[in-house]
Amino acid sequence: MPFGNTHNQLKMKFTSEQEYPDLSQHNNHMAKILTPEMYERLRGKQTPSGFTLDDVIQTGVDNPGHPFIMTVGCVAGDEETYEVFKELLDPVIEDRHGGYKPSDKHKTDLNEDNLQVHPHPHPHRHRHCRAPPPPPPPPLTFLFSQGGDDLDPNYVLSSRVRTGRSVRGFCLPPHCSRGERRAVESLSIEALDSLSGDLKGKYYALKNMTDAEQQQLIDDHFLFDKPVSPLLLASGMARDWPDGRGIWHNDNKTFLVWVNEEDHLRVISMQKGGNMKEVFNRFCSGLTKIESLFKERGHAFMWNEHLGYVLTCPSNLGTGLRAGVHVKLPNMSKHAKFEEVLKKLRLQKRGTGGVDTAAVGGVFDISNADRLGFSEVELVQTVVDGIKLLVEMEKRLESGQSIDDILPAQK
Ligand code: ADP
Ligand code: MG
Repeated sequence: MPFGNTHNQLKMKFTSEQEYPDLSQHNNHMAKILTPEMYERLRGKQTPSGFTLDDVIQTGVDNPGHPFIMTVGCVAGDEETYEVFKELLDPVIEDRHGGYKPSDKHKTDLNEDNLQVHPHPHPHRHRHCRAPPPPPPPPLTFLFSQGGDDLDPNYVLSSRVRTGRSVRGFCLPPHCSRGERRAVESLSIEALDSLSGDLKGKYYALKNMTDAEQQQLIDDHFLFDKPVSPLLLASGMARDWPDGRGIWHNDNKTFLVWVNEEDHLRVISMQKGGNMKEVFNRFCSGLTKIESLFKERGHAFMWNEHLGYVLTCPSNLGTGLRAGVHVKLPNMSKHAKFEEVLKKLRLQKRGTGGVDTAAVGGVFDISNADRLGFSEVELVQTVVDGIKLLVEMEKRLESGQSIDDILPAQK
């Protein structure tokens, strides 16, 4: 496992040039933006908890690219990272989040009733978008019905919405100490144990699980992977594994909370089939309850008007929300326009085993690409609308028909 060099004070004896990382083979947002001059200006700075520029960028230095997604190449170690290193992080955020500017304000909407029966004509028209407003998409009303409770289960195998939350006053996983991590774990258990009704559940610490139990939860898509992801390893998030990590879930495993993986908390609602509306309802009500349980105990989540919810990876700022489905697209995924269609619908694809896996047998994890500058409702709506279109396209291709007349415009 690579090591950060945070506490090596001797490095300051070397010039910035002598310390500058080799980014010549790199394709991630950080590597596109960092310059030797910027490195020189920032390398002596640190946050109040001691997170340095080298810690911010290490994951992007050690991981030049990723086979499936364009990575950000940097992480935050605490809430202040985004302020202290804004010279680097502001442009990274702008690049990753479709032109989101330092002066932009993020909006939150966790009211599931706002999911629309019919799509808003321009749900993605935003003042911060660099591109001019797109022409209205072709009329696709035949594809929509009640806001997301009817994704075709013959194609949509499971639906899921997740986000992350960070507890203010504690360092984030790339930088937290063992004590901090354990404190976040105890706080989480205490708060989550107060959930009742359908959400009532139990905490399972990773270190108390057998290997077989852990593997079963991973195979069933409920639990985060073992610390095998090079992105996670290089950022320092896997230190002390499995200490302080675990999963809390309700009895039927439809509401789950990961503790101390990439974020302090990952809150997940999921179920088999295509009822995204039900999944989102449970997500909204569970998340709101969790937030108030933490508040009652004097702990706020990291949040500000500009960045929304503050999370470890800059790609997750704002809502932190990834709404996605496992969907069968054996024909559509072979179509020459597949990538283009996903981009136009503002969607991202992954393999069904998580971000580091390739798709097998034409089944993909398709989710929203955006997190920041759009509300939770807007993002889920994007996924619902996009998946309906993709499934329609799959059906057309299956029966040998053309999809040319339903190709989407850029959202
Ligand atoms: P995350 O964005 O939540 O970190 P990852 O790509 O790391 O997502 O995947 C984490 C786990 O969640 C994997 O086991 C993956 O299979 C599972 N998962 C993601 N989306 C879905 C879905 N729609 N249905 C079932 N499981 C899912
Ligand atoms: Mg993940």
